[in-house]
Order: sequence, then structure tokens, then C-alpha cells
Amino acid sequence: MSILDVYRGPARDLLSTLTDETAPEWRVCFSEDGTDEPTGVAPVCTDEDHDPDDGSVYDCCPEPVIECHSMTTADYVAALLNADRSRS
Ligand SMILES: [Zn+2]
Repeated sequence: MSILDVYRGPARDLLSTLTDETAPEWRVCFSEDGTDEPTGVAPVCTDEDHDPDDGSVYDCCPEPVIECHSMTTADYVAALLNADRSRS
């Protein structure tokens, strides 16, 4: 078992609790870190008035927004979390 496998389950359980969803889909989003790049990840917003191409976070969006401090890291974390969706 890899170290990734060791941490995957508890992280999935925690994020499920925070999002009230078993396996939410994640997106890269603009956080409130003051930069012009999308450096956060958040669950995909399913509000019909929220354009899927709009990376902003509004009142309609589910929490949490997780700050990743760079777009590169945010892309990676979102991809990692979404890859884990198919494993649940
Ligand atoms: Zn939204």
C-alpha cells in the first residue's frame, strides 16, 4: 500500500463531511488570496445560474474553498481529488 493509499480514505471521509456529498466533483476556482489566478479548489457548483466556465465563487457555490497557493497546485489537487472519485 502506498502512502497515497494511506491518506486517501481519511481525506475522502473528511471532504465528504465538509461537502455533504459522498464524492463531489472538484473544480479550480478563484479564491480570496488577492491574486488574479485561480489558486483554489472547490466542489463543482450545480446552480443553474452559475456558468460552468466561471471560476468565481458565489453564494450559490458549495463549500469548502481550499487554497492551494498556486494555479499549478490547484490544478493538481483538483485532478487528484477527481481521480479519487472513480475509486469510491
Ligand atoms: Zn455557484
